[in-house]
Amino acid sequence: MAYIQFLGAAGTVTGSKHLINTSGDPSGKAGFQALIDCGLFQGQKEWRERNWRDTPVPAKEIEAVILTHAHLDHCGWIPRLVKEGFQGPIYATPPTIDLCGIILPDSGHLQEEDAAFHNKNKTSKHDPALPLYTLAEAEESLGYFKPVQVGQTVQLSPELSFRFVRAAHILGSCMVEVTLGSTGRAQRLLFTGDIGRVRDHKVAPGKVVHSGPAEGETADVVVMESTYGNRLHPKEDPMPELAALINATARRGGCAVVPAFAVERTQKFVFMLKHLMECSQIPRIPVFCDSPMAIKAVEIFLKHDEEYSEETRSMIRQYGSPLKWPGFSFVLTAEESKKINDVRTPAIIVSSSGMATAGRILHHLSQRLPDPKNLILFIGFQAPGTRGFAIKNQADEVKIFGGMVPIRAQVAALEQFSDHADPPELLQWLRTFRGKPATTYLVHGEKDASSQLRDLMTKELGWRVEVAEYLEKVGIG
Ligand SMILES: [Zn+2]
Repeated sequence: MAYIQFLGAAGTVTGSKHLINTSGDPSGKAGFQALIDCGLFQGQKEWRERNWRDTPVPAKEIEAVILTHAHLDHCGWIPRLVKEGFQGPIYATPPTIDLCGIILPDSGHLQEEDAAFHNKNKTSKHDPALPLYTLAEAEESLGYFKPVQVGQTVQLSPELSFRFVRAAHILGSCMVEVTLGSTGRAQRLLFTGDIGRVRDHKVAPGKVVHSGPAEGETADVVVMESTYGNRLHPKEDPMPELAALINATARRGGCAVVPAFAVERTQKFVFMLKHLMECSQIPRIPVFCDSPMAIKAVEIFLKHDEEYSEETRSMIRQYGSPLKWPGFSFVLTAEESKKINDVRTPAIIVSSSGMATAGRILHHLSQRLPDPKNLILFIGFQAPGTRGFAIKNQADEVKIFGGMVPIRAQVAALEQFSDHADPPELLQWLRTFRGKPATTYLVHGEKDASSQLRDLMTKELGWRVEVAEYLEKVGIG
């Protein structure tokens, strides 16, 4: 019997990797083996150590990877899989391939930096500490990608085919509909990847790409994310609060420093600032997007106008490329970045990393945190243990570049920027299904989030729902 095995994102939100074996033969020889997503485990050491384990089936026996989207927790293990001997195609949408082209090499570079840090400080039990993969290995893995358009059917073997349908999570993101025909009656499997938010720009503001996952699905088995299974997004439009925060900061003569992921979140935020300036809701103060990766990401966004929301389409029609908007500077070099320190009049600085764990945001924070005129504004999730978490949760000081920096600036957070649907939005989407799936397996959630969503779906929809376990195999058909 064919089966799915959960190789990651079970009991946690990272390391997404789901193996389909069409034969049920654990050696995989008689059937076809494909991986849906190939993500990096991130966060606590217990999870990260799994990045060093081999896959339960040899990498060279996996014949294809189907990738839902370009977030590292879904694509970041691809270079390692290739390093371990995988030689098959990696199917993804063209925007996902373009985004992987900047995200995977950057990840390889960070892996090398990590290993160098451990070797310098002798903080690893391995001598020498090695990178999970290098920048060069990440670049090599890009050669295996094959573009697939949304809606196009790809036949992987006589018994296995798939097509992408829109997930509306980030640029290029898709769900994977798999048709498995080896057991007589064809089975339809739906892997949701990460699920985007509903079609309401007030509820899910600043959406650069179209919103709302594809409706009217049908499936025998659903493998579904549950990141926000036990949390609700605020339903207020964040624009008035954002405008009030920027206006107050400008009146004080201060700067707003916004830690943001370079891909997607920065673009979303920049579009919102432009909108507020054009409606005269905030003054036209300089905006610095201080991230070379954000520039590359904007170029990728501009290339894929088929993905735009109507709001984005009309803004680009009216104002042109964000890279050329007056008053908006996209900062490339380290020297230009340091020059922002000299700016003493009101300005907005958007920089990464989003949780202030590394990157240019650190020198902006060390400059601006001690002055009460300034504002530090969080627009993304801050994981416990990160600098961003400490600042957001009212620490008095924070360690940056080896020294303690006092936190006297105003600290604020807007929670509406998530790219994941919350339970009411998930139910709204699930109610559009054309029939009950036989079983739904919940993945990509902390244990509490997954089990609360399971209970909610059972109660509200009457579906059979199970929370997937790490390395668990479930039969299909
Ligand atoms: Zn994602």
